[in-house]
Amino acid sequence: MFYLLHKRKLLPIDPDRIYTFCPRCGTLHAVDLTEVFADGDVDLCGTNVYCEDCSAAARAEALAATEEE
Ligand SMILES: [Zn+2]
Repeated sequence: MFYLLHKRKLLPIDPDRIYTFCPRCGTLHAVDLTEVFADGDVDLCGTNVYCEDCSAAARAEALAATEEE
């Protein structure tokens, strides 16, 4: 179990209530840190997670880019 220290109180980190902002559109969305850090590269400050819509858009753009080659 891990905690956040906030105003001298320890807040348990609930895996179902962890959020981040999408680096592309700015939408606040829930993330599963277990899934995000499954590759073993744990960087809490340097990791960005796209929202569902932007993930789909990025995948479509990557696919289109490979088809253009
Ligand atoms: Zn987004």
